[in-house]
Amino acid sequence: MRAMAGGAALVYSPAYQCDIGPHVFPTEKFGLLRERLVAEDGIAAEAFLEPQPATREDLLRVHTAEYLDDLEQLRWTRRTMSSELPLRADIVLAYRLAAAGTTLAAREALVRGFGVNLGGGFHHAYPDHAEGFCYLNDIAVAVRVLQHEGRVGRAAVVDCDVHQGNGTARTFRGDDTVFTLSLHQERNYPLPKESSDLDVGLEDGTGDEEYLERLSAALERVWEAAPELVIYQAGADAYREDQLGGLGLTLEGLVARDRLVLEGCARRGVAAAVTLGGGYARRLEDTVRIHHATCRTALALARRERPSS
Ligand SMILES: [Zn+2]
Repeated sequence: MRAMAGGAALVYSPAYQCDIGPHVFPTEKFGLLRERLVAEDGIAAEAFLEPQPATREDLLRVHTAEYLDDLEQLRWTRRTMSSELPLRADIVLAYRLAAAGTTLAAREALVRGFGVNLGGGFHHAYPDHAEGFCYLNDIAVAVRVLQHEGRVGRAAVVDCDVHQGNGTARTFRGDDTVFTLSLHQERNYPLPKESSDLDVGLEDGTGDEEYLERLSAALERVWEAAPELVIYQAGADAYREDQLGGLGLTLEGLVARDRLVLEGCARRGVAAAVTLGGGYARRLEDTVRIHHATCRTALALARRERPSS
């Protein structure tokens, strides 16, 4: 029998880490997080599920053929140039793996209750073009693939990254089967913003207490939408020491944030798949620590809800 990671699926690929040159986005955080889960939480190396790259067929459920052609052929066009990344085969592969990883985490979550992709959260990617540090929108792909497979009807995206999930909002605009919530810093990238089903634009410097109140109220709307699956974008960049973020959350506040979302799912029997977006803390150690805490919250809840045997 496969070793269960405390009941929650943990999804990881060593190829999530790729060389994007001198960049504020530390792709080495993925491997460091995995090391930490092995060293400190006793997760067996073989317990991590490794995704295969998302197929073109799966990516076409969100992205346009023209854009995917550009990515496959590494063509620098207006569709790809809007990224803030180099365009190389290993980088495109990392994004295809992330898309498959979030899909796998969500598929497992529907069985086990929780799934965590130790990557993903590339919520700025649009169906027809790249944006920010995002080539492929793994969150949107996961929802669309699982809907196509008939595994899920209604889904919700709870996006707590400091930046608005604009690509996700655009993808699901006008789709009553997917509720999109984005809680973000209002005066930050992207500008202009898209319309999610519910946007909570926070003032600069918003601290733990107000953040948690606003999140709590917003989650009520998510539960009203009756999702069978929540994809939770646990962006680490809502942290007060983030270089690209301007909110005031402490490490403790971020843990409380994760609990609010994930306990809410557990209490209602809603499957939760987590993506670990954002994370540009001044100290890389802090980014890894925030992601680690998110994983631990999911693992602890999974043990409580669905004890492995
Ligand atoms: Zn972000």
